[in-house]
Amino acid sequence: MPLPSAGRFLAMTVLIAGGGIGGMALALSCHQVGVPAVVLESVREIKPLGVGINLQPNAVRELYELGLADELAAIGIEAEEWALVGRNGRDVWSEPRGTGAGYRWPQFSVHRGELQMLLYRTVLERLGPDAVRTGHRVVSYETTADGVAATVLDRSADEMVVFDGDVLVGADGLHSAVRAQMYPDEGAPIWGGAVLWRGSTLGPPIRTGASFTLVGNLEQRFVTYPISQLDPTTGMQLQNWIAELTFDPSVERRSSDWNTRADEGEFLPAFEDWVFDWLDVPALVASTDEVFEYPMVDRDPAPAWVDGNVALLGDAAHVMYPVGSNGASQAIVDGRVLVARFVELGVGRAALLAYESELIDDMSALVLRNRASGPVSILGVVEERCGGEFDDINDVIPRDEIESFMAKYKEAAGFAIDALNAAPPIVSSATA
Ligand SMILES: Cc1cc2nc3c(=O)[nH]c(=O)nc-3n(C[C@H](O)[C@H](O)[C@H](O)COP(=O)(O)OP(=O)(O)OC[C@H]3O[C@@H](n4cnc5c(N)ncnc54)[C@H](O)[C@@H]3O)c2cc1C
Repeated sequence: MPLPSAGRFLAMTVLIAGGGIGGMALALSCHQVGVPAVVLESVREIKPLGVGINLQPNAVRELYELGLADELAAIGIEAEEWALVGRNGRDVWSEPRGTGAGYRWPQFSVHRGELQMLLYRTVLERLGPDAVRTGHRVVSYETTADGVAATVLDRSADEMVVFDGDVLVGADGLHSAVRAQMYPDEGAPIWGGAVLWRGSTLGPPIRTGASFTLVGNLEQRFVTYPISQLDPTTGMQLQNWIAELTFDPSVERRSSDWNTRADEGEFLPAFEDWVFDWLDVPALVASTDEVFEYPMVDRDPAPAWVDGNVALLGDAAHVMYPVGSNGASQAIVDGRVLVARFVELGVGRAALLAYESELIDDMSALVLRNRASGPVSILGVVEERCGGEFDDINDVIPRDEIESFMAKYKEAAGFAIDALNAAPPIVSSATA
């Protein structure tokens, strides 16, 4: 196997496969506690790809701990409301979010690509320009006497190089090569029949101007939330939208990739009459330049995230349906938990195992909970009880029943209000 062209990386302590949200946030957390890290990212150039995502208060807290409060406010918008609306246009549920709900930290809605670029820029500033190796695809790993050796395709030179480190963290997302080596028989992610079409476009404010809205039922729904502040001159803000339809999962669909372009003709006819006095679905979609398709997939929970001195993190560890807005948040939190264990136990297998045992059971349960529609499954109850037809939702399902259901979801996803507010920092400032 050829030797690395840049020998200085032989001594890197933490090798991170993947410079997405989880990988970049982990690099910043390593730097915060004085642990050297290098990010090996497959793409040649990191670009602001994706559309909107939400950062829950548990993740926002960690980004604030990393000193990114002002930067986050500059690229995102604080979410104020989360609302489920029946196909008849009437509210099923609405609750405040972020500080308005009593959290000490806000919830942010942001463009995924803007967040990735913010983390990337910050990694370069704080760790130095060599800390992110773009065009470096991790191909395989091998446990060594001192730690781990990662074999990496340097795409520019078109040659294999080897990076040695104490540990390797697979933060390489949905189609993780690190996970594929751990579980060679696992195959592709599992598609359950739902397809998401996503886009963002300028539009007038919806409800509070900082509301997440989901209209529809379990088989067909439309989601909106803004990902920019209102422009006072134009009265517009960037609206993120997601249209979802359900198909027969036994009929094959093209494989899941976050960046597949799609034609609105594939789904828009099904939403043709989704026009309410506060939302015009066909108009919003028609004003969108680029539409992306994502067949919604997940993976069965993995029995372990650690193999030798290698661990999985973020989507590589626990990719889940994006129904609870917690994929990016959990990727960030994973890295904080891992770094706290580095501080406690040193950079090695013991820390990886402690990280795994702290998170794996809860995350495996969350994957399955989200497969069953997560917080949105309450719409299934409404369908069951009244076929989606109601004048007053209280006649169908009492408010306290939904309230306790939502509280349980937040607890399972790690952002129960009182517990989060009372919890000590994951990475204590004494160690930073
Ligand atoms: C291009 C893109 C667009 C996305 N758009 C959305 C969106 O619009 N909405 C949404 O909810 N979620 C989106 N996601 C997923 C979302 O970012 C993740 O679910 C979440 O942030 C968890 O982050 P992660 O770091 O685990 O994975 P990701 O953020 O997916 O990052 C994984 C990174 O690993 C890199 N990588 C993959 N294989 C290798 C390898 N072998 N070696 C080195 N690097 C590798 C990828 O290029 C990527 O940068 C998108 C992901 C990507 C990659």
